[in-house]
Amino acid sequence: MSIEITLTPAQKSLQRETREFARDVLTKVAGATRDIVGPEARAMATKPFYEQLIAAGFMRKCIPVEAGGECTGMIDAAVLCEEFYSVDVNVTTTLIGSVLGLYPVLLAGTPGQIAEFMPPFLAKKGAPLATFCSSEPGGSANSGAPAPAEGVRTQAKLDGGHWVINGRKQWVPTPLGWDGKGADLLTVVCRTDPDAAPEHGVSILAVQRPTPGLVFEHAHDGLGNRSHLSTRFRLDNVRVPVGNVLGGVGNGLKVAEASFTATAALVGVLGVGIMRAAFDFALKFAKTEKRGGAVPIIEHQAVGYALADAKTLIEASRYLSWAACKALDDKAPGAAELAFHAKIYGSECAVKVITSLMMVVGIDSYDHELPLAGLLQDAMVLPLFDGGNMGVRRRQLHSLMKTEGYDPLTAWGGA
Ligand SMILES: Cc1cc2nc3c(=O)[nH]c(=O)nc-3n(C[C@H](O)[C@H](O)[C@H](O)COP(=O)(O)OP(=O)(O)OC[C@H]3O[C@@H](n4cnc5c(N)ncnc54)[C@H](O)[C@@H]3O)c2cc1C
Repeated sequence: MSIEITLTPAQKSLQRETREFARDVLTKVAGATRDIVGPEARAMATKPFYEQLIAAGFMRKCIPVEAGGECTGMIDAAVLCEEFYSVDVNVTTTLIGSVLGLYPVLLAGTPGQIAEFMPPFLAKKGAPLATFCSSEPGGSANSGAPAPAEGVRTQAKLDGGHWVINGRKQWVPTPLGWDGKGADLLTVVCRTDPDAAPEHGVSILAVQRPTPGLVFEHAHDGLGNRSHLSTRFRLDNVRVPVGNVLGGVGNGLKVAEASFTATAALVGVLGVGIMRAAFDFALKFAKTEKRGGAVPIIEHQAVGYALADAKTLIEASRYLSWAACKALDDKAPGAAELAFHAKIYGSECAVKVITSLMMVVGIDSYDHELPLAGLLQDAMVLPLFDGGNMGVRRRQLHSLMKTEGYDPLTAWGGA
């Protein structure tokens, strides 16, 4: 395996385009949403920005070429995620959440399913939403655990030519869509055989809008991502055609795991993006602020060392996360392990680095007038979502290392 990553001319141009779009459009999201009360109203105010993002073709740039989009691999996704997330987490999370919602189609869908479900997301118009519905009230870290664990509680039962879904989900991005009639596509993790072991009894079903039976329960009021809507909702007798199973009946956990492995590497990249924003601010502050002293505070060794330590962690997170993306593109045997390391390291570095940069800036960083307080709030989601680092990610590495024949060198390709 090569650890060298050289951006192609097309990827350099993607980097330029995403940076310009972030500067021209996404910088305005915070100002347009900050003073709005309530998570739903704040999220609705981001719709015009999301529409611009779709019209500029950035959803297409996240969809693989083989499915009709323009994405050539995970490095493209890393370029886009770092540039967007360093400027705005809210609209960017709506985009990434939609791409996660599409992963079961992209990774496991038949050509017929791809042709049926992808068109709204390939068109450069509107504000299409897909949403991956895995998390459930009462917890979902043990969705693959055998009885007597509850595992996945949402049930789908066959009724003639349809699956009938009943259950509850939470922390799901905008499942009812912008207008309450449903997201364009929901990919719902369901138990399709209550008597089978989870690795054979869980499936992912595609639900298209508009559909009766999606019932709103609660808009989560999160610490960060204040203008990205996460929702608790119910599926009451939601009917989908029998052919809407993605990846085959009973393969749901495998498809979910493959989806979360790809996003794990990207969460590391999101950590880099948000640390980059915090570092840029703290560096400028340190070079310009004297705080009543005779020299800018960067002249003090303690401040210089803190900035140096922060930068080391940012660069290390970037190398690890981008290497994980490249390993996934190369289908390297150690790709999944690298992706989990990237998720854990990039997300936890983000919280640590922003906290230490707040100490560089000092007390004024505690006021939302400056950006660091908000960035810390936003960064806190990174170790918690996409499978919490404690319950899922660390456990996945633990299971891998317990495997007979596990070779620690496989992760970098040196085995
Ligand atoms: C902005 C945002 C976007 C999100 N997007 C989505 C989405 O698109 N789709 C979706 O379905 N969800 C989404 N979520 C929800 C989120 O990704 C998951 O619900 C969350 O990651 C579940 O992880 P958890 O480990 O905290 O689970 P829980 O089941 O709540 O576990 C809680 C805690 O229990 C402990 N624990 C449980 N089991 C074990 C174990 N076996 N070993 C060790 N410790 C254990 C751990 O300490 C763990 O942290 C989103 C959330 C947010 C905030």
